[in-house]
Amino acid sequence: MAKLYRSETAKETLWKGNETIMKLFPYNLRATEEIEDCLDKFLQECPEEYRSILCLLFSADDNTNHISAVRQAIQARVPAARIAGCTSSGEIMDGELRLESIQVTFLVFDRSTVDVHLFDCAKLTMDEAAAEILPDLLESEPLAGIGILTTLKTLNDIHAFTDVLASLPPEVPIFGGSSDSYNNKSSYVNDEYTCVFDDESFTNQGILAILFHGEDLHIRVSSYNGWKPLGAETVITGMKGCNEVTHLNQKPVVSLYEKYLGIAPGERFFSAIIPFPVMIDRDEHPVARMAISYSDDGSMRFGGDFNLGEHVRLGYGDPISMLQDGQQNAIGLYNFQPEGILLFSCIVRRMYLRDDVSNELKTFRDIAPSAGFYTYGELQRFEGHSQVHLLNGSMVTTCFREGRPQTKAAENVETQKLAFHDERISLITGLAHFVSVTTMELEQANRALTHLADTDRLTGLLNRGAVEQILKREIERSDMSFNLTLGAIMVDLDHFKRINDTFGHEVGDEVLRTVAKVMQGALRSSDYVGRWGGEEFMLVLPGCNLKDAVMVAERIRTCISEQTILPDGSHATASLGVTVTNNGDTLDGVYGRLDDELYKAKRLGRNRVSATRGNL
Ligand code: GH3
Ligand code: MG
Ligand code: MG
Repeated sequence: MAKLYRSETAKETLWKGNETIMKLFPYNLRATEEIEDCLDKFLQECPEEYRSILCLLFSADDNTNHISAVRQAIQARVPAARIAGCTSSGEIMDGELRLESIQVTFLVFDRSTVDVHLFDCAKLTMDEAAAEILPDLLESEPLAGIGILTTLKTLNDIHAFTDVLASLPPEVPIFGGSSDSYNNKSSYVNDEYTCVFDDESFTNQGILAILFHGEDLHIRVSSYNGWKPLGAETVITGMKGCNEVTHLNQKPVVSLYEKYLGIAPGERFFSAIIPFPVMIDRDEHPVARMAISYSDDGSMRFGGDFNLGEHVRLGYGDPISMLQDGQQNAIGLYNFQPEGILLFSCIVRRMYLRDDVSNELKTFRDIAPSAGFYTYGELQRFEGHSQVHLLNGSMVTTCFREGRPQTKAAENVETQKLAFHDERISLITGLAHFVSVTTMELEQANRALTHLADTDRLTGLLNRGAVEQILKREIERSDMSFNLTLGAIMVDLDHFKRINDTFGHEVGDEVLRTVAKVMQGALRSSDYVGRWGGEEFMLVLPGCNLKDAVMVAERIRTCISEQTILPDGSHATASLGVTVTNNGDTLDGVYGRLDDELYKAKRLGRNRVSATRGNL
């Protein structure tokens, strides 16, 4: 079993062993003046030969003069470096949280190139920015990945930019995050402070794209969040903008927090709901949405988009599973054997995990040199999918490697045992587990009850209430779709009273059960059959025309007359009425025609099918 954590000597060999591959050099400055020492160190460590250098700056300091000074120093001593950066709300270096610092990270590529594009969205629309970047994506060398940094002001509209990137082949990884600011804890109010910058410019309203090109450059993006769904599913029934939800299950969103969590709007509302994001699905991945503000009308704004009609659940933060998900993710990183890792972690993780962020971050410490920052929103294109999603509350991990991995992937990886700083977690874990299991049991019980309420006891088919509801729903649905008709068949057993009278009720019951089986066997998975009453059955065949419905009816008629065997060796028979829906049809209309056809079949001698198209 390979260890996820390496010994110091193993680390030395791996990190410095091969001089011909890319390298990531992270440095952390507590003050801008430290930049000269940092550059001294870098110039000592930097390989003599390289193809390109990217210098990433994640800065707690949002004073543009200070950032400019750092930038100038870098340009003076490492003129080859392309600079890209943003303001942050927490810096990460080699698996440690650094506060109030400037994280300076050099990525030195042996065979790959980097290109940095800054779009000032005060001057350009998102669409124009995207149109500008497209030609650069199609350079002669393969595109190995795209990193995106955005300001808070542009975060809400970022999809207009990233939608253009969705046309890129799914194997191109896209990752990044929104700049943040220490002055900007939990609302958009202070979005003036966050900015992105390149070698020359700054903007507090823009997007920065870093393009990585190279035949031999491998970038792997993964993420985890560890937030778990809690409680019952709800449906978004009202929205204002793309990230403002007014109603869940027809009720103001705020009232849901009040009802289920006992948290009412007020001064401490946001700190109280941090552990309870809303959970949604994006490309089969669970994604959290953190609340950022609420209005008097009970609506709430979240740090990302929703869709009307989307199913959501409340979520909760279980620190243990958050850290365990991190370890699971780390195994993937370890096996990729990166030369460097970039981390984009949501500020909410820092606020929620508190001292245990050190537990989370240290997982990265021993895999490869790493650097990152705390963001307002993370960006990721999930593997194999086209869309770039804005995430909340997650950790996006981006691994870089030039060339092939040096050793084989380990099948089993031993992770370090977690030792928690915070004792609330065992209580949270226990309670959350209790709620999850209780919800699951309730949902199961609900499903069982619904099943019971909808099922006919004798035959196990749907009962009249259920099949009537389905028939009504399907009539409406077929009315809306132009070409699709709905087939309906009514089955009535012939002289059933006589069967009961001759052979007894028990035999009659057995015939009903056999007929139920025959009908179930004759249907497609999208069809429905229910017991309409005594010895009458209703079949609903969505998307079926009259010809096919008659064929089904004939098949059922034949099977009943062959497969029901009465004590004297004779068989039971049935008469069937068939029809299809027309535009503007109603339940009464369909039912009336079925009844008429059934009557005709009986009158013409029973054991037969009678069908009508209805009035066209
Ligand atoms: P027809 O061919 O005209 O339909 O004649 P029928 O005898 O089938 O029609 P009728 O409606 O007069 O009789 C239906 C019979 O079905 C009467 C009732 O005793 C019987 N029946 C209703 N429900 C059940 C049941 O659950 N089990 C049994 N064994 N018989 C039932
Ligand atoms: Mg009858
Ligand atoms: Mg009958």
